[in-house]
Amino acid sequence: MDTFDILILGAGPAGTCAALRLLALGYRVAMTESAAFPRHQVGESLSPGIHNLFDYLDATALLQQPHCQHQLPAQVIWESTTPFQLTPQLRGHGVMVNRGLLDKDLLKLAVARGLHLLQPARYEKRIRHAQHWEVQVRLPERRITVHSRFVLDARGRQGITQSEKLITAPPMVALWSHVDTGQMPAATCVEAVAEGWLWGAPTSDNQYRVMAFVDPNSLQQQPAAIVYEQLLRETKLFRVPALPERLQSCPVTAYAHIQPWRNEWLQLGEAAFAIDPLSSTGVEKAMRFSLQATIAVNTVLKGGDAVMAQQFYEEKLLESVVHHTQWTRQYYAKGWPGAMHAFWKERSVPHLPEKITTTPFSQQLSDALQQTTTPLPPTAAGNNQAPNLLKLWPGSIQLSPAIKYVTTSCVVDDCLQLKTAIRHPNLQRDIAFLDAVEIYPLLQMVPAISTFGMLVTTWSKQVPFPLAAKMAVFLWDKEILCPQ
Ligand SMILES: Cc1cc2nc3c(=O)[nH]c(=O)nc-3n(C[C@H](O)[C@H](O)[C@H](O)COP(=O)(O)OP(=O)(O)OC[C@H]3O[C@@H](n4cnc5c(N)ncnc54)[C@H](O)[C@@H]3O)c2cc1C
Repeated sequence: MDTFDILILGAGPAGTCAALRLLALGYRVAMTESAAFPRHQVGESLSPGIHNLFDYLDATALLQQPHCQHQLPAQVIWESTTPFQLTPQLRGHGVMVNRGLLDKDLLKLAVARGLHLLQPARYEKRIRHAQHWEVQVRLPERRITVHSRFVLDARGRQGITQSEKLITAPPMVALWSHVDTGQMPAATCVEAVAEGWLWGAPTSDNQYRVMAFVDPNSLQQQPAAIVYEQLLRETKLFRVPALPERLQSCPVTAYAHIQPWRNEWLQLGEAAFAIDPLSSTGVEKAMRFSLQATIAVNTVLKGGDAVMAQQFYEEKLLESVVHHTQWTRQYYAKGWPGAMHAFWKERSVPHLPEKITTTPFSQQLSDALQQTTTPLPPTAAGNNQAPNLLKLWPGSIQLSPAIKYVTTSCVVDDCLQLKTAIRHPNLQRDIAFLDAVEIYPLLQMVPAISTFGMLVTTWSKQVPFPLAAKMAVFLWDKEILCPQ
């Protein structure tokens, strides 16, 4: 029997990212992982933002291993039927990895930093006590019980049941197989066809994976292998001479958990939400959300406001799902097959979630998904050219009458604190900090100052001059500072 601050279920990128951060914050962290590593895992094309995350976790070297392929060009057929070549510079610095090896390396790093790992050890059951969770874990030879204040459920798709899902997009299934690398270019290929789309990339074991994404209804009339072969034959980029064998499949319908935070039991990664594979950002989004969840957990464990922590965690989950859903819809709308084809039509219009058990969170998410049916119009201020500092310098200034002050939770030293933020029609969200500088105390000085130049000079006594100038220009550009 053992007692921890946090127990994490599952050692995918979501679980291990949370573990690394919580260990760095000084907590006693345990993890159970049911599979022996390295285990096979799809989801190997990592988006450019992954580098920042690995740097932040002090794990940069893990993306420089021999199995990581950098600078892959891409061939794309999407908006028209003519192939479009994307150089690595245009694509951004993504990485194609072997997920089995990367997940194993990340886990090894967490163990070296103090993680108490149980592997192979399958989570089986939980009991809630007044102040903590009692969790039963199955090891090969015996069962053990672990006690923990928080449990972070990062078991991927096994960590969420059908009845806990709010489906956020039309159903979709992935079918994949491998061909010899010699049959395909050393590039990522993406191609839209009438009934779906295909993605392919070289894997680290000298194969080329070809993955097709289709509506599961298309598999009801014909066996999956026939559907897959027909899709390949329809393409320009994936017309391989020898058809691949050993077809694999899995559902990839996007969803979100309807109650992701219950009694200090939090869902992470794909146990919390899954996004359409179109953007290849699943791993990045999962890790980013884990970092946000650790801020909420740290806030509660440090004696902070638990309600604020839960709100912050839920807001970040909601933002992630809503933004990605909106982006995906716009991207499907650009596909050349267009609204004439059911697959494309259904995915380019809002998908109204089905009626399911409602929770306050699922209601909030459904509402937010419906409110984002039309893209936001660009604000007038967003179209302004950056004004010239010298021209602004002598001009008189005042605060916009449309500015409002609101209290909001902000991350300070990995904890949430209440701060005063500004709300303005030209801002997409409330802002309390600009470049890590608290903005409210600086704005309090504005009424006593007559010109733009004096404002920058006064602020530069508190922050470096270039930053003072940058903040003042930003606020002018957004019309939060305006002429008197
Ligand atoms: C077909 C497909 C293609 C994808 N392509 C991409 C892509 O190109 N790029 C990208 O970024 N993302 C992609 N994704 C998404 C990506 O795979 C996921 O976002 C990512 O794996 C989520 O990480 P996770 O840590 O939440 O879950 P996982 O990586 O699934 O890890 C969960 C872990 O929990 C363990 N576990 C399960 N049950 C238990 C239990 N009872 N007890 C203990 N441990 C348990 C599992 O063994 C596993 O190791 C794709 C997903 C799919 C399905």
